[in-house]
Amino acid sequence: MIIERLDYGKDLTDEIKRICEKRKIKTGCFFAVGALKNLVYGFYDQRRKRYKKIKFSRPCEISSCLGNISLLDGEVFVHAHINFADEKGAVRGGHLFESEIFAGEIAIFPHRKILKRKFDKKTGLKLWR
Ligand code: ZN
Repeated sequence: MIIERLDYGKDLTDEIKRICEKRKIKTGCFFAVGALKNLVYGFYDQRRKRYKKIKFSRPCEISSCLGNISLLDGEVFVHAHINFADEKGAVRGGHLFESEIFAGEIAIFPHRKILKRKFDKKTGLKLWR
């Protein structure tokens, strides 16, 4: 297991990708806690096969952030889902696209098997093959 602090002002998934590249992690899973702002998260519309993106600009707490790491076209691809709480404790969540780190701590669990993603016609998503 690897534990690291995430850098202030950086994008969360970019930071995870940077750590994985630095440590040569190609497959694994992770969880993170901390605080963010300026999120773009999404809900996958299964009928239209596309994401509906939602913006959230206020500061928030990560109540749960889970995901995995695999390869897409030979590059590290970070798939993160997030639940976050606003100043009243209301929680929202979905697939994480963008976010700005205020503070963050991550635990990454590398896996020896290398998983690669490939476009799946049935779902319209890039899934593990
Ligand atoms: Zn997702």
